[in-house]
Amino acid sequence: MFSKVLIANRGEIALRILRACKELGIQTVAVHSTADANAMHVRLADESVCIGPPPARDSYLNIPSIMAACEITGADAVHPGYGFLSENARFAQILAEHNVTFIGPTARHIEIMGDKIEAKNTARELGIPVVPGSDGAVTSEADAKRIAADIGYPVLIKAASGGGGRGMKVAKSEAEIGHALANARSEAKAAFGDDAVYIEKYLAKPRHIEIQVLGDGKGKAVHLGDRDCSLQRRHQKVWEEANSPALTPEQRAEIGDVCAKAMQKLQYAGAGTIEFLYEDGEFYFIEMNTRLQVEHPVTERITNLDIVYEQIRIAAGEPLSVTQEEITFWGHAIEVRINAENAETFAPSPGKITHYHPAGGVGVRIDSGVYQGYVIPPYYDSLIGKLIVHGRNRPECLQRLRRALDEFIVDGIQTTLPLFQRLVNEPDIIAGNYDIHWLEKYLAKKDAA
Ligand code: ADP
Repeated sequence: MFSKVLIANRGEIALRILRACKELGIQTVAVHSTADANAMHVRLADESVCIGPPPARDSYLNIPSIMAACEITGADAVHPGYGFLSENARFAQILAEHNVTFIGPTARHIEIMGDKIEAKNTARELGIPVVPGSDGAVTSEADAKRIAADIGYPVLIKAASGGGGRGMKVAKSEAEIGHALANARSEAKAAFGDDAVYIEKYLAKPRHIEIQVLGDGKGKAVHLGDRDCSLQRRHQKVWEEANSPALTPEQRAEIGDVCAKAMQKLQYAGAGTIEFLYEDGEFYFIEMNTRLQVEHPVTERITNLDIVYEQIRIAAGEPLSVTQEEITFWGHAIEVRINAENAETFAPSPGKITHYHPAGGVGVRIDSGVYQGYVIPPYYDSLIGKLIVHGRNRPECLQRLRRALDEFIVDGIQTTLPLFQRLVNEPDIIAGNYDIHWLEKYLAKKDAA
């Protein structure tokens, strides 16, 4: 096992990782920008190193600074959390060259899944169902038209190096193809410096359902069931649940088994998430995230597993702590993301938290790094915490969420908590009847009213 882990992240996830390390008896090193000197993860770590000024590119993305912090503190492993350097194959490679363990998969697996075309081809080879579409990059309008006619309209043109939903254009008919192709390519070029695009069938009303996997890197892998993350705004998840209200236990076992077998074949190491769009009973792979996800706690809650603990064990060369047969799903869990944003305009709202009273009680978990008097810096994403509730079934879980939201007080800044107070009473949400467009439509209706 490791003796000292450096946590190359900030906020709630840095604290989450720190807690797992402490429970494993591992020393922790926090790194932080000058803007985060008073952050909770810095206060609670055994050691801390300032790695640069506030902008992430100069601190949390600054590989030489982080390598120096490893050197100074003698850390023998690095946990990257999510975002920042968590899916940076070069970082994983550099750590390996310096005999520091990257708590995550191999650089090669990060690279494969980071390229959307290669990821899709790999998924197909591994037996994972993918969205019908082009085999690789498409450059000419004639090719695009031929492929689109083959798969049927509407189609979606997507950037190979895509992320955050950028570089994506829908074409409803052949007349729109030329325009959509040109637009997608120039947007991709501007956003990612790469104008490679590919074509997929456009799914009109899918749900976003993802499967959590764990692999030991030696051919053993299990799945921890699914999460439904269909409630999104601008392709950002805002509410996640486990398990999906849309799947039967049989469908869950079937797609879970496909994913676990694929990870066995790939000899995948660590935690990963295979993301699907789900429509009319069919799953379509969109991407794989080779890291811990924001929404991992809902899975932890219903499986009674600690995913970070598993990640650390796997990286240390230990076997998975559970077999597939030992993994069972208990009850229902929902996570809502508390962002420092206006709940109607979604304008960022950094600043000082003057009063803080988190919810508590049975079945409530809060993952957050904030405290009363904490000043939220304006430089990073607006997620300040996650409220995770659990119940024996979905109705009990929703009732507990209502109760927890009523108790939760954050003053001095604006948060997305009022949005969830409304959502939790919406008939479609109560019925579990929503797709990936539901939230945007709901917000647009509210704006118009
Ligand atoms: P990114 O890496 O940019 O986030 P993804 O491939 O993960 O791109 O897709 C982001 C979102 O775009 C999905 O969650 C979904 O809302 C939408 N999307 C992607 N592919 C399709 C498709 N084939 N049909 C309909 N919507 C899609």
